Amino acid sequence: MYEFEREELVATLRKRGIKNERVLSAFLKVQRHLFVPDVMIPNAYLDVALPIGQGQTISQPYTVALMTEILDPKPNDKILEIGTGSGFQAAILYELGAKVFTIERNYELYNQVLKLFDKLNYKIATRCSDGTIGWSDFAPYDGIIVTAGSPTIPENLKKQLKIGGKLIIPVGDKSTQVMKIIKKISEDKFKIEELSHFAFVPLIGREGWKE
Ligand code: SAM
Repeated sequence: MYEFEREELVATLRKRGIKNERVLSAFLKVQRHLFVPDVMIPNAYLDVALPIGQGQTISQPYTVALMTEILDPKPNDKILEIGTGSGFQAAILYELGAKVFTIERNYELYNQVLKLFDKLNYKIATRCSDGTIGWSDFAPYDGIIVTAGSPTIPENLKKQLKIGGKLIIPVGDKSTQVMKIIKKISEDKFKIEELSHFAFVPLIGREGWKE
């Protein structure tokens, strides 16, 4: 179902500059219409963020594609995502062959996603807690991707990254953020690059915004 719409979406992502063929083919596989509420299904393959309930959103496909292209996970890489939301970003990472660990703080969304992953037979480790403190049991990670806007770069996430790994996180105020791409060079040395402006919902937690 919706194969044509997925192809159109991939054509849009290409036009907007996404080049990684593995990432583009994951977008052909993951059925975004299953990750949005029923009333949003007609808009599921537009390149826009959509409400998913609980005051949260499924990110714009272009943003998901860009962050995934930057992360560039290889098969069997261990990737931690903070902010499961609809589960769509985690599903894209899973289709790329990564071992995915994802954390959501909202219990309703977490519960919804557990059922969806089960139905789709996606083996994705999912947890309901404050992702700003990471998931130390499975650390270190090859990559960490944060899909909510943070006031700072959480120290715990830097610690739980492998040397050579990448942490991607939007950092700024509650309305706009700069995407920071942090590469871990050694235990205490990091190289940071920045990308233009984004607008994510706030990352709420011990090392994020206060509620
Ligand atoms: N990646 C999601 C997707 O593919 O649908 C979109 C995520 S949505 C923009 C951001 C999510 O981060 C929300 O579901 C929100 O509840 C969650 N969130 C905010 N602060 C969090 C925290 N400290 N730990 C875990 N999840 C958090």
